[in-house]
Amino acid sequence: MYTLPKLEYSYDSLEPFIDAATMEIHYTKHHQAYIDKLNAALESHPKLQDLPIEDLLRKLNTLPKEIQTQVKNHGGGHANHSFWWLNLKKNTKFDGEISKEIKKKFGSYDKFKEEFIKTALSVFGSGWGWLILNKDNNLEIIKTPNQDSPLMEGNVPLLGVDMWEHSFYLKHGPNKTAYMEDFFKVINWENVNKNFEKAK
Ligand code: MN
Repeated sequence: MYTLPKLEYSYDSLEPFIDAATMEIHYTKHHQAYIDKLNAALESHPKLQDLPIEDLLRKLNTLPKEIQTQVKNHGGGHANHSFWWLNLKKNTKFDGEISKEIKKKFGSYDKFKEEFIKTALSVFGSGWGWLILNKDNNLEIIKTPNQDSPLMEGNVPLLGVDMWEHSFYLKHGPNKTAYMEDFFKVINWENVNKNFEKAK
């Protein structure tokens, strides 16, 4: 059975950029719902419930046809949100190997930020913006619809932003640009660097 990972900080840790109410609902209601629905979909496939969620998504196309859509939506939701919480921390430094690679690939931090925000804002409806290490070992900024995970295409997520309204609407209303500016103030660069070191 999949379970909600422990949140290693309090709901108000990211104030004033991401508000405590949004964090609590997002974590206890939205993330939990993905987990419950994933477990329900896998009820008749107990062996699959033992796989790390990342492995389950990497092999999505080889799973029994009748559960693929549910695993994609709810397994994707579980993986993306587990990733999301680790993604966030105030006052970390844009530093380490990843900062060098980002500057090499995009020119500067500001150019990277601009391109990442542009891609995230171009998500139509609900989805995610990502910095990934792609199959050719290059940094790339992409978006995915719904709860699709970069893992499903064989890519490794390094940084992601949740563009579903439940992630920002309470505080930012329809102002996604303000949400993106606030998101950039709580990126956990230590964790992005860790993801990059692991993916290389
Ligand atoms: Mn979400």
